[in-house]
Amino acid sequence: MTDRIAELLSSLLPGGKVGSYVAGEILPGTGAQLDLVNPANGQVFLSFADAGAPVVQAAMEAARPAQRAWMAMSAAARGRAMWEVARLVRAHVKELAELETLSAGKPIRDTMGEVGKVAEMFEYYAGWADKLHGEVIPVPTTHLNYTRPEPFGTVVQITPWNAPIFTAGWQIAPAICAGNAVVLKPSELTPLTSLALGAICDKAEGIPRGLISILAGGGPTTGAAAVSHPDTRLVVFVGSAEAGAQIAAAAARNIVPSLLELGGKSANIVFADADLSRAVAGAQAAIFGGAGQSCVAGSRLLVQRSAHAEFVARLANATNRIPFGLPTDPATQIGPINNRRQFDKIGAMVKEATAAGASLAAGGGCPVEFQSTGGFFFAPTILDSVAPDAAIAREEVFGPVLAVLPFDTEEEAVAIANSTPFGLAGAVWTQDVARAHRVAGAVRAGTFWVNSYKTINVASPFGGFGRSGFGRSSGREALAAYTQTKSVWVETAAAPAVAFGYVG
Ligand code: NAD
Repeated sequence: MTDRIAELLSSLLPGGKVGSYVAGEILPGTGAQLDLVNPANGQVFLSFADAGAPVVQAAMEAARPAQRAWMAMSAAARGRAMWEVARLVRAHVKELAELETLSAGKPIRDTMGEVGKVAEMFEYYAGWADKLHGEVIPVPTTHLNYTRPEPFGTVVQITPWNAPIFTAGWQIAPAICAGNAVVLKPSELTPLTSLALGAICDKAEGIPRGLISILAGGGPTTGAAAVSHPDTRLVVFVGSAEAGAQIAAAAARNIVPSLLELGGKSANIVFADADLSRAVAGAQAAIFGGAGQSCVAGSRLLVQRSAHAEFVARLANATNRIPFGLPTDPATQIGPINNRRQFDKIGAMVKEATAAGASLAAGGGCPVEFQSTGGFFFAPTILDSVAPDAAIAREEVFGPVLAVLPFDTEEEAVAIANSTPFGLAGAVWTQDVARAHRVAGAVRAGTFWVNSYKTINVASPFGGFGRSGFGRSSGREALAAYTQTKSVWVETAAAPAVAFGYVG
């Protein structure tokens, strides 16, 4: 472990140790050894034991009394505690961002922003804590009927490696706002900042110990044990469709509902009448932000044929100038891929695409100057003239690889956009306002942008259509996802006409 990581861990985690964070303590794992690798040099910098079922049990046991204590507090007091979490996150932005950059390989300019967003998420849901209420339903006057939004109890959350602390905050904040306890299992490849966030939450006055536990462990081991634990009342999963299907099936066996935020193959559609300078910048941010390791990445660029050649030339030129390199350098906009497996997968998909006829307009692999670093550096890559039925146009890469598909008509663009089973996001670039709204209505996606890409906000609902998942995270809709509605009936008639049954 580098001295700096050791220093950050000792300031952020009890005893500076790595294990699972449960009720104020770091619990050592009971399973196989897991290694953390620095994406910038390929070296193992820390190892820990997979949490395993005994640690899952400890987190579950801590969650129940903590959740009861949390719900025994007034809604306003819960809101104040969440404001305090936000304040503490803001006070630790630099350390958390640095830890994320050193352990997950994300450029520091991105992680500084993402940790700031975590504070915003707690602020947003702190405001909701005392505004979440049921309603009175206008049933016949013989009765009073009202609803209560009630927490599920213990929620298990499972998150991926691409934006670890951002995703943890994004799911923990609405879950506890709605009155739940959380047992979160971050990716075994990037657990450190989620552990630190758990420890920071517990420092906030009013957060009961055990309300938020973070499990350091593997998916099919620790994650699966948490999903199928008898105390689990809701499962929230962010990750691949393959793991999501297994997890939803495991939850369903216990009649536990799930919310799935999965991958995508989002279409970014550029019409010839668009402001092309803005569309080039937008297309670049859409796919190369986070080195393409983003669920909403605009990985398919659909360009109207009359603008296609000019657009690809301008985009390739701009792409070759994006600051690329070490994630710790504040100028870097594209850093390494998070892990070797993903790096190899990206390389194999690019090779297959070129063999299938796509032409390489930029990138293609690890730049020569990074080949001796041992890091997982993959240059931003543009594959031009891709056929709509090619694998690279249909399958998620989750890397800095753009597939360009020319089209002629609006109808054709919409048909190509809707031709994958995914439906996470999409965008259109045009100056024709009627067309913009037509296309926004016609593309099957949970989020759609007009003359923009990737803008999201905690106040706005987010989630997928089709194979990109179901349920909505963020916004008021996340509170609906994290609560279950109870309907309460009160007899108010002086002389009850109906003892049991339907009133109407
Ligand atoms: P992954 O599905 O391999 O792993 C995600 C998490 O699930 C990890 O914590 C892993 O340990 C756990 N897991 C795996 N199998 C499990 C099992 N059987 N039981 C319990 N837990 C299990 O995904 P990844 O490679 O970490 O992340 C990349 C994927 O995540 C991409 O497909 C990407 O699009 C998706 N993603 C989606 C969103 C979104 O909001 N829609 C956001 C970020 C990433």
